[in-house]
Amino acid sequence: TDLQQLLLSRIRDVADYPKPGVMFKDITPLLADPEAFTALTDRLADFCVQTGATKVVGLEARGFILAAPAAVRAGIGFIPVRKAGKLPGATLRQAYDLEYGSAEIEVHAEDLAAGDRVMVIDDVLATGGTAEASLQLIRRAGAEIAGVIMLMELGFLGGRARLEGALDGAPLESL
Ligand code: IMP
Repeated sequence: TDLQQLLLSRIRDVADYPKPGVMFKDITPLLADPEAFTALTDRLADFCVQTGATKVVGLEARGFILAAPAAVRAGIGFIPVRKAGKLPGATLRQAYDLEYGSAEIEVHAEDLAAGDRVMVIDDVLATGGTAEASLQLIRRAGAEIAGVIMLMELGFLGGRARLEGALDGAPLESL
């Protein structure tokens, strides 16, 4: 589609970053282009509205940049899911496995409750570990998943299959 071509044209491939053998997808050219950033924000907000989302979760750090304007545009609240140790209040915490070792993410417990329908937004779906952990956090808080929408999906890493169980029928979209 025209939107996909516009977005793709504003994503830069950086070879061997952050380590040799990795092709990093850099979204900073997209963020610097108001036409592309606006079109992306509108698309993300439309998906929130279509799915009946009542809250938007952004995943640290690039997910914050995409999710916050989408939440404002959709007229619903924005909730940060952060790396462990960054949120000042009472939190729920979820561990997940990385290629080497593990990581933990957190959300303020008071930000999510039964009755909420949550849309998760991030820039890249890679192995799916981060998104899967966020879905587990949201469910543990008693809220429902409205869906997951990612700017990009690195299909060869199998993130979609990994997320399937945690989605429990909710839609996963990548642009
Ligand atoms: P996953 O948990 O393996 O799916 O990794 C997803 C997380 O890593 C997301 O929060 C992304 O922002 C980040 N990530 C992985 N690969 C890239 C990339 O090529 N560009 C930008 N972010 C990436």
